[in-house]
Amino acid sequence: MRQRIRKGILSFSALLFPILFMFLSPYVIIAAASTGIINGSAIIFAIFFVTSILSSRLFCGWLCPGGAIQDMAATANIRPWNGRVKNILKYLVWVIWFGFIIYLWIANRPLKADFFYMTEIDLHMTIMYFLVTTLIFILALVTGKRGMCHSLCWMASFMIIGEKLADFLHIPRFRLKAKSEACISCGRCNKQCPMSLNVQKMVKEGKLQSVECIACLECVDICPKKAISCGIKRA
Ligand code: SF4
Ligand code: SF4
Repeated sequence: MRQRIRKGILSFSALLFPILFMFLSPYVIIAAASTGIINGSAIIFAIFFVTSILSSRLFCGWLCPGGAIQDMAATANIRPWNGRVKNILKYLVWVIWFGFIIYLWIANRPLKADFFYMTEIDLHMTIMYFLVTTLIFILALVTGKRGMCHSLCWMASFMIIGEKLADFLHIPRFRLKAKSEACISCGRCNKQCPMSLNVQKMVKEGKLQSVECIACLECVDICPKKAISCGIKRA
């Protein structure tokens, strides 16, 4: 039941993507910063960072329209996409992208906030929308399960930094917990994980922690032995 609700919410967020995408755009934030404006996506990315201190990456697993589009593509390509190099790529993209934005903010002071900067629905925006959604879909088709989340997503790093900060400050946050003695090594969690994580290995090691985990709770719900639970806990 929980996964039906999650997938329903994700599908709804995909329906809302034409309205939401300018507020999650990696481009509009740059266009705004070049004119000394802190726009809607800058404010929303800051909210992602702050909320992830408590809620980890729940947004990615439950609300992200980009994630929903990738999950659609995964019905055609369920190949796992996970690995050190594949995961590091998104940090390189983020450092260059966000570094450039900070440079623009500094160069264009004084800054002013405009939440609705470049959010009008016009032809330019419609073309951008189709380009972005097509790119996300094709990328996931080519790479495999949630390839964009692993290798390209500009939003993931904000939440991963939030998670790391919570752990550093010993702030309890949403996380999974393993009961290794209950695991019968059936492998269902690995097969179900949309982020292609080796959940079974983490459960066996009694340490179910990965910054790539999007808190979708697929593994919690599929485990026949209830070896995985979740809640707000300290590291
Ligand atoms: S480890 Fe579990 S909660 Fe995390 S992404 Fe994989 S299936 Fe979802
Ligand atoms: S689904 Fe449960 S029992 Fe099966 S491998 Fe994963 S943790 Fe172990």
